[in-house]
Amino acid sequence: MPDLAWLDIDNYDIIDISLPVDSKTACFPGDIQFSRNITCTYKDSKVINLSSFTMSPHVGTHADSPIHIYGEMDKGEGMASQLPLQAFIGHAQVIDLADCFEPITSKHIASLVSSLDRTKLAPRLLFKTRHQIRYDVFENNYASFTPDLVEELQKHQVKLVGIDTPSVDHSDSKGLETHHALHKYEMSWLENLDLTHAKAGYYTLIALPLKLTELEASPVRAVLLKKK
Ligand SMILES: [Zn+2]
Repeated sequence: MPDLAWLDIDNYDIIDISLPVDSKTACFPGDIQFSRNITCTYKDSKVINLSSFTMSPHVGTHADSPIHIYGEMDKGEGMASQLPLQAFIGHAQVIDLADCFEPITSKHIASLVSSLDRTKLAPRLLFKTRHQIRYDVFENNYASFTPDLVEELQKHQVKLVGIDTPSVDHSDSKGLETHHALHKYEMSWLENLDLTHAKAGYYTLIALPLKLTELEASPVRAVLLKKK
């Protein structure tokens, strides 16, 4: 028998670590917020409600793909649909640094590794930097990752990092050095997580990007599974 015990979802608590997506969801200044257009109502048609929406794929909890930071959008390479799905499902660890508003460096990890019973970090690391999230406010002062942190994490075979702020780079960054370091080491990343209900510890992460073949990022519904 294959070991499919983890699929028995009744044995797990599901912690939703995604931001709500609606017309109030904050995004980077200049980026396109969510907006909805109702194309047909049940009231009028007596059949269906139907809508369409517009938004930047960086609104809410999402994964960036390589084309976000490099290359030409029309070549069809590095798109959200091509993100490695393996990175977005599996053993994960929440690291609680809340409340932190400064760049997270390799020094944070050095002290963490020495304090862990298991010397190994999980291959997916989610950094909690806030106790509370106001999803409708863009906060310019937020924690991000330094490239030297990425360099250190790749030595620990980390495949994915996540953060509960709008970007892995600080908003003042011109060259997006951390995005480039993650890309260089073939690591994936999640931005705008909501880890307020996730305590430090080990979980199973599921946060699959949509198969968007023409976009440089994709919304995800990110959840953590914890055995009851
Ligand atoms: Zn993004």
